[in-house]
Amino acid sequence: MSFEYAPAPESRAVVSIKPKYGHFIGGKFVAGNKHFPTVNPATEEVLSQIALAGKPEVDAAVKAARKAYVSTWSKMSGKERGKYLYRIARIMQERAREFAVLETLDNGKPIRESRDTDIPLAAAHFFYHAGWADKLEFAGVGTSPKPLGVAGQIIPWNFPLLMLAWKVAPALATGNTVVLKPAESTSLTALLFAEVCQQAELPAGVVNIVTGDGSTGALIVNHPGIDKIAFTGSTEVGKIIARAVAPTKKSVTLELGGKAANIVFEDAPIDETVEGIVNGIFFNQGHVCCAGSRLLLQENVAEEVLHKLKNRMEKIRVGDPMDKNTDVGAINSKEQLAKIVELAATGDVEGAERWSPACNLPAKGFWFAPTIFTGVTQAHRIAREEIFGPVLSVLTFRTPQEAIEKANNTPFGLSAGIWSEKGSRTLWASQQLRAGVIWANTFNKFDPTSPFGGYKESGWGREGGRHGLSAYLKGVSHE
Ligand code: NDP
Repeated sequence: MSFEYAPAPESRAVVSIKPKYGHFIGGKFVAGNKHFPTVNPATEEVLSQIALAGKPEVDAAVKAARKAYVSTWSKMSGKERGKYLYRIARIMQERAREFAVLETLDNGKPIRESRDTDIPLAAAHFFYHAGWADKLEFAGVGTSPKPLGVAGQIIPWNFPLLMLAWKVAPALATGNTVVLKPAESTSLTALLFAEVCQQAELPAGVVNIVTGDGSTGALIVNHPGIDKIAFTGSTEVGKIIARAVAPTKKSVTLELGGKAANIVFEDAPIDETVEGIVNGIFFNQGHVCCAGSRLLLQENVAEEVLHKLKNRMEKIRVGDPMDKNTDVGAINSKEQLAKIVELAATGDVEGAERWSPACNLPAKGFWFAPTIFTGVTQAHRIAREEIFGPVLSVLTFRTPQEAIEKANNTPFGLSAGIWSEKGSRTLWASQQLRAGVIWANTFNKFDPTSPFGGYKESGWGREGGRHGLSAYLKGVSHE
């Protein structure tokens, strides 16, 4: 017997969205010139108008960041800097519900995820780095660690506030000031964060937020007043940035795409594994750089795993992201939906077998049903390219060695998963896999103390943990 869930809508009344926003420069909100709409992807409702920063705004933000760096932030003791970070973290916790609702409205992710994952983790990043601010000499990053200066930070739309926290918290803890650009489709929580900076009385110019599109990002990347670029996004744009900073003295960290193998060995605990597969690919609609998007099943358990996986997928609730019962929300934009549709269609054309559970997708908004493709080979585009949506490609293997060869047969190297009850096999496999993050008998678990980053085309450098601190300090290895 199965029960129907009554709707459990979160209230929208906890947020007040302005009809139009400007930029946050030098501690103040300043009006923008041009604007573009930001849309709720679940309803296509225009939520607000976001300012598009051009050269004058980016120049002003870099100038404000430099002034704050020279006059205040780089001179302040780590202990004092830490107090501001603690204050920001506590205000984020106090305003957590507001942040969660705003994130869900602007991004389309289920409120359960923004409430239980994005916002608590964002606050945790500030708490964690607040703790480091006065202990940098003991972090194993040199005896007299020095900040780099002004950091230009460009973030994507999949975890808007969390990616902001990953960038801003370590930069501030190490004594840098920042100019941050959120993604054009998800700027609202960054603008709310600017209010938090004001509330925390953070010295003017330490955090500057300019909104805009790729052209604004390029202005930041190419600005001579910037000392470090921290970017999360597509490998394509990551390569453009790498080329742009190569002839300069700028430091750079790139957190790019992935095509993670999630490997299920014959001795895996199957029921737990099925939960892990679902979490690995359908969390955040699959808009996750480290998503377990290539499932590698050992042949003798493949049928059982697929049977249980399909049963489990029948119970995934897709729909209104503001409903607390929803598991999978809306695709972030029309453009991203088109990309998912196009790549999934290549799976059909190239001979893989598509399966999705029956689900009633809302008429308005951008939606894609959770999907698996079986009969996938390594040559298929859906096995090679990042789909960045709720689409799982299933491959099989006979021997552990074959699993490793298939897992590593990718230009990416961000993450991987291993499911096995044998510790020795897990350790062996994790040593063979070329991936920056490897989960064993779990997936998509994040913690500010743990470094995150990739090999090969998945990027350069690490974020989080002690390794992440070094990326914002002079003369310290970035790997
Ligand atoms: P992008 O790499 O284009 O965007 C990431 C950020 O970079 C955004 O803030 C974007 O601005 C900005 N940007 C775009 N062009 C430039 C540029 N030339 N110089 C500097 N900054 C720039 O990712 P998309 O949002 O277009 O997504 C495309 C694909 O990338 C997805 O389908 C997915 O496969 C992958 N992706 C991977 C992510 C990851 O975490 N690894 C995150 C997001 C996407 P704006 O948003 O305004 O265009």
